[in-house]
Amino acid sequence: MRDFLAVHLLSLLICFFSISSSLASSFELTEQEKNWIKNNPVYNFTGDPNWLPYGAFDSSGKYYGIVAEHLQEVERLSQLSFNAISVRNWGESLKIAIEGKVDVISGDAADVILNQNFIPIDAYSVNPIVIIMGINHNYVENLDEIKDKRIVIIKGYGYTADIFKTYPDISFLEVENIQDGLNAVSTGKVDAMLATMALASYNIAEMGLHNIKVVGKTPIEMKLTLFVSKKKLILYSILNKSLRSVSGEIKHNIVQKWVKQKYIEKTNYQLVIQLALVSFIIVSLIMMRFFRLQKLNCKLLEEKTSQLAFQHRALDQHAIVSITDAKGNITYANNKFENISQYTQDELIGQNHRILKSNFHPESFYIEMWRTISSGKTWHGEIQNKAKDGSVYWVSSTIVPYLDKRGKPEQYIAIRTDITDVKYSHDRLNITLSATGDAVWDWNIITGEFVVTSVYETMLGYKEGELIPNIDTWINSVHPDDMSQVQQTLNDYFDGKEEIYHVELRLRCKDNSWKWVMCRGKVIKKDSSGNPITMMGLHTDIGKRKALEMELLQEKEHADKANKAKSHFLSSMSHELRTPLNSILGFSQLLENDLLEPLTEDQADSVSYILKSGNHLLTLINDILDLSKIESGNIDLSIEPLILNTILDECISLISPFAETYEISITQQNRPDDNLKISADYTRIKQVILNLLSNAIKYNSKKGNVTLICTPIEDKLHITIKDTGLGIAKEKQDKLFSPFERLGVENSEIEGTGIGLVICKELIEKMSGSIGFKSEVGLGSAFWIEIPLAIETQQKEMQTEIFSEETEENNNILSGTVLYVEDNPANVHLMEKLISRYPKLSLVSAHTAEIGLSIASSKDLNIKLIFMDINLPGINGIEALHKLKANPETNLIPIVAVSAEATKKGIKRGIDAGFDLYLSKPIHIPEMQEVINKYCID
Ligand code: ADP
Repeated sequence: MRDFLAVHLLSLLICFFSISSSLASSFELTEQEKNWIKNNPVYNFTGDPNWLPYGAFDSSGKYYGIVAEHLQEVERLSQLSFNAISVRNWGESLKIAIEGKVDVISGDAADVILNQNFIPIDAYSVNPIVIIMGINHNYVENLDEIKDKRIVIIKGYGYTADIFKTYPDISFLEVENIQDGLNAVSTGKVDAMLATMALASYNIAEMGLHNIKVVGKTPIEMKLTLFVSKKKLILYSILNKSLRSVSGEIKHNIVQKWVKQKYIEKTNYQLVIQLALVSFIIVSLIMMRFFRLQKLNCKLLEEKTSQLAFQHRALDQHAIVSITDAKGNITYANNKFENISQYTQDELIGQNHRILKSNFHPESFYIEMWRTISSGKTWHGEIQNKAKDGSVYWVSSTIVPYLDKRGKPEQYIAIRTDITDVKYSHDRLNITLSATGDAVWDWNIITGEFVVTSVYETMLGYKEGELIPNIDTWINSVHPDDMSQVQQTLNDYFDGKEEIYHVELRLRCKDNSWKWVMCRGKVIKKDSSGNPITMMGLHTDIGKRKALEMELLQEKEHADKANKAKSHFLSSMSHELRTPLNSILGFSQLLENDLLEPLTEDQADSVSYILKSGNHLLTLINDILDLSKIESGNIDLSIEPLILNTILDECISLISPFAETYEISITQQNRPDDNLKISADYTRIKQVILNLLSNAIKYNSKKGNVTLICTPIEDKLHITIKDTGLGIAKEKQDKLFSPFERLGVENSEIEGTGIGLVICKELIEKMSGSIGFKSEVGLGSAFWIEIPLAIETQQKEMQTEIFSEETEENNNILSGTVLYVEDNPANVHLMEKLISRYPKLSLVSAHTAEIGLSIASSKDLNIKLIFMDINLPGINGIEALHKLKANPETNLIPIVAVSAEATKKGIKRGIDAGFDLYLSKPIHIPEMQEVINKYCID
């Protein structure tokens, strides 16, 4: 039965692969496609030149075969025409295709390279992959039945990947082309061959091989298609439509013709031979031809023998070669073998390979090697051998069994390469790595094998060989919190987003503690599609570094906490000082501006001192805040054009009383033009100049002198403050501008904190200036600052004047009641004084928010505006604001915050809470007037 099947298989399969192609559909082209053909009728085409019956070029460059005849059908239907480009081999076909020299190329639908560069149309002919064996072999239903046989396949075809995938247990041998494969089956060198049905049957006939046949079929198919340039999508569509509309019958006939034709030719040939047998002349001719052929064969044999000898010599030059019989006794050893083993040929021949055995490998190693080769398989591996003098050497060895007709090993050929140097350098690398403490890992991504060096195991507290070398062992030891990071990093690396795989993670030790390691790795082997196969890398113990980082982090957290506490302290201290200052400055301003009871000249002078000193005190409070802001890098400056002389006069007037107590005279040199302006922050530049002046006074000699010299240099102004003091010793000068450095005066009576110059430097640099000094012991010091000059502008001052005039006129037209919620009586008194300037305005005050809320909702009072302090006893100003805004009776009254909280953050918090405006204490009268004008007008 099985034989019967084998006989009929060929014809059945011929029918199968052509009939299985698609059914014909009607051929209809779109207008666009028709126009396209009209404008672009000719296309370059190429295919495999050595692929009959599918295709080949004849001597005139014409493409013929199954593919060509299908193309003719396309030409007939679509009016397209193909210009076949003749090539010498498939490599050349691929080359010109990739270079874009052809529009269409014929091939196997599974071809990886073509699929990358072209689009395949639907396969138009399907060919099963069949099994070819000796004529006497029975029908083979499944390839697994002959899996222990030597089976060859043709190298590099699109469908070969499918074969490997379907039969992972079979080790196939590869041949260059169909002819080599068929010859090998025919001569018994191999047992079977796999090829497409058409290719096999055509070539069996073509080569006249009568001792082989198709014995079975595999489930794998070769799908014939046309690959079309990605730039010509319309052509793709036309070809697809054309070939779909070619009927199954036509396709079947094309294939039949190409496969059968050769059989017919072969049969005719046999007939001719039969006829020739009865013809003496023909017999003579055949005899002559036979002798000629024999001569040719002899010549060929000679050539082959000399080629073989040459190859043998070449091999001997490169490798250590030996041959043993089936029992393992040496029958041949080349010179290289003699040299490395130190034994002579005579000493080696007849000996068993055991004489070279070193005690490095376990017995199981040799048992496994013998098991492999005696079962007819090739063995590869690295062996340590022992030379005659007892020294050891390493070889990389390949042992190939030579099988007899029954498939049993007759002899073994061993080819080896000396890798002693490589091994030792590998050992050296291992020693170096263990000296660095780094562990090496080697991961086979496909099998999951994860081999590590002993350092890896000791790093985690295990004994050598204790860990199972599998990736799961590693995965299970990763800290759960680090797992997602590890996975993400690996994905990023595989996706090409990272050059190297690099991640820090914790691994579980044998004693269940966690060890921080830095894991770095790289893929060292990829498959043909670029998927990673093997990855190698290092584990470095970073426990100490991590502990240090942790310590630093904790210290930073402590420092941050301390810094926050300090900022909190400074801000509350400044708040406490601002409240009394508010009264001092507010009342002084009222006294100064009292039109009804104007001050005497002397009183006005005193009040101006109170105001200036009050303001200076305010500036000093701000200085303390500054240091904390400078330390945290948060300092806000308002850079504007400032008249220099005004600043200098103010500074000199502020510092003069202080100078007088030290009996120091202040003189000015090069007083600049009154219009000269600098570009700076008003408060900050004064702060810097005052600090330098006060130092020049404090550190001066008794009855000394301070000179202030101004020199414009290009776009900058240079101000020098020179004193006649003791000067600063050279060795101490380095410490100037360092916080809290008082250079030895800390125990003297001179007061100071050692932060003034630090603030000066920061501030002046923030205002785009610079600071420096010169000092000589016994002569005195000269501190200088350089600050940018400004472009003049008077506009702002003019606006201020107009505003004051307008304010006076407005006082009479404002009416209603202003509510002031404030617990400090002095502040309330100040507000009363201010409101009394408006004849039609009245003020009601509340010392708690609760009272303020009930006053605000009283309809009789007609409250136009509420000033609200934020820090109040009971509910605070912000809560009161929310209640007022939530009450329909009060939600339309404008509410202005008046608070001692003057930080940017505090102001933002107030505005965000919903206040219409936010004023910070101390109260600035014109600002308050502006608010009253805005909200109390009818
Ligand atoms: P403070 O004056 O509060 O100590 P500063 O930061 O202003 O802090 O100055 C730092 C130190 O520099 C001073 O303590 C002093 O020793 C020295 N110094 C500053 N200015 C002069 C000066 N004009 N002459 C001599 N020494 C000075």
